[in-house]
Amino acid sequence: MASESINQLHFLLIPLLAPGHTIPMIDIAKLLAQRSNVKVTIVTTPINAIRYSPTLQDHINSGLPVRFLELPFPAAEAGLPEGCESADALPGLHLLPNFSVAVDMLQERLEQRFDSLEPRPSCIISDKYMLWTADTAIKYQIPRIIFDGMSCFKQVCTHYLYASKVLDDLPDSEPFVLPGLPDRIEITRAQLPPEFNPSPFASPEHLEKVREIESKASLNYGIVINSFEELEQEYVNELKKLKGGKVWCLGPLSLSNNNDLSKTLRGNSTSSIDDHHCLKFLDSKKPKSVIYACFGSSSQVIPAQLIELGLGLEGSNHPFIWVIRAGDRAKELEEWMTQNGFEERIKNRGLIIRDWAPQLLILSHPSIGGFLTHCGWNSILEGVSAGIPLITWPQFAEQFLNEKLVVEVLRIGVSVGAKVMVHWGEEDRFGVTVKSEEVKKAIEKVMVDGIEGNERRKRVKKLGMKANKAIEDGSSSYLNLSLLIHDVTQLAKIKLNF
Ligand code: UDP
Repeated sequence: MASESINQLHFLLIPLLAPGHTIPMIDIAKLLAQRSNVKVTIVTTPINAIRYSPTLQDHINSGLPVRFLELPFPAAEAGLPEGCESADALPGLHLLPNFSVAVDMLQERLEQRFDSLEPRPSCIISDKYMLWTADTAIKYQIPRIIFDGMSCFKQVCTHYLYASKVLDDLPDSEPFVLPGLPDRIEITRAQLPPEFNPSPFASPEHLEKVREIESKASLNYGIVINSFEELEQEYVNELKKLKGGKVWCLGPLSLSNNNDLSKTLRGNSTSSIDDHHCLKFLDSKKPKSVIYACFGSSSQVIPAQLIELGLGLEGSNHPFIWVIRAGDRAKELEEWMTQNGFEERIKNRGLIIRDWAPQLLILSHPSIGGFLTHCGWNSILEGVSAGIPLITWPQFAEQFLNEKLVVEVLRIGVSVGAKVMVHWGEEDRFGVTVKSEEVKKAIEKVMVDGIEGNERRKRVKKLGMKANKAIEDGSSSYLNLSLLIHDVTQLAKIKLNF
């Protein structure tokens, strides 16, 4: 007869191999491993394990039961260059389909190792785009919970857009009111995510499959979200209603990195800068005077548009840190910076970081006064957690919806005025869409003293305090993690008694 006691829960975390998806799941792993009787295994590949190991090291050193399970990545078999194990390492977007093939091949590799995992996994938490994990969960008869890296606001918007006919025959650029929401928000189809606004690298069939798996209770027990209830309570409540209560907001996940070392090492990649240099620059500036500009890990902004951003930063007259990703076309921008004299002109006022910045470390510095962001959900939460007003410049995916939440619902940011989604692979289609003057104006609006700016700063500071409170013992995100662990324990008991 089966015993009723569960000695140790074992969570198998399976992130999508892209920094914006892997980084928050590593944070979840750390939070879970800090709870008693919980072991965590993060499924990844050798090069990703090297990249993210430093992030986990302090937890491993202090004896917490969290580790990586490395599965060999079939790069060559899928026609990818050797060593290309993360979406941001792809030499070109034409290789995305090959990358998906390689990711799918990980299923067999994981299942070959499954029986050797000790104790037997109690639960899978996998990125919602790792579709094969639903089959694996069924095969091994364990619950699968999805990690959705987007806000509750986005999920509620998407639900009601599917349910309504508002988009029928609507021209791309005609504003309409998002249906079913407690707030009145106007948007255009050209700003909607690929589910409603076709993109070359997100096939409708694939998106439909994601949706189908997400909506079947037999394939998906619930959703873990990187958000906190106090940020978007009405939308959390609504999503819970839509999902039968199984929604756990555990964030802001970045706050699990609570010392300078873990902030520096998080998602660490090769960078042109060491953290001391960065801190020295920030230390030399006045409190709340510096703009931090970063477009996340995977935006592919064209050089002509980046030049407008550079000129906008320069024209704002504020000190700034600007993160530029290396890539195919970085050379064009570098040439412009040298030949046009940009780097020379801004040398005492601007710091350029090539490729990867210690974002959390930078945002937590008292000199930062504004964050110019592409509106990736992680970045928004990180800005909010640091209590910093945002300058919003959405690019792709659900980022325009994130901008609406920030600018119109929470009123903690100012938009540069981008009008159309620039899908991955379509960066050249629209050319320059935001001019330097617009960037400069938005920065000035955020940084200026005066009632509007001060009120905005007060609102985001208050939200930042709530964010930090949410993860404390006994507060909302902390309790949600306890509830999640409780649920998984109950499920494991039912299985034992079956
Ligand atoms: N990030 C970082 N340094 C960089 C670029 C990105 O630390 O130079 C981190 C950032 O803190 C965030 C994640 O990478 O946690 C990016 O996620 P987000 O959702 O903002 O954007 P994405 O990269 O998915 O578009």
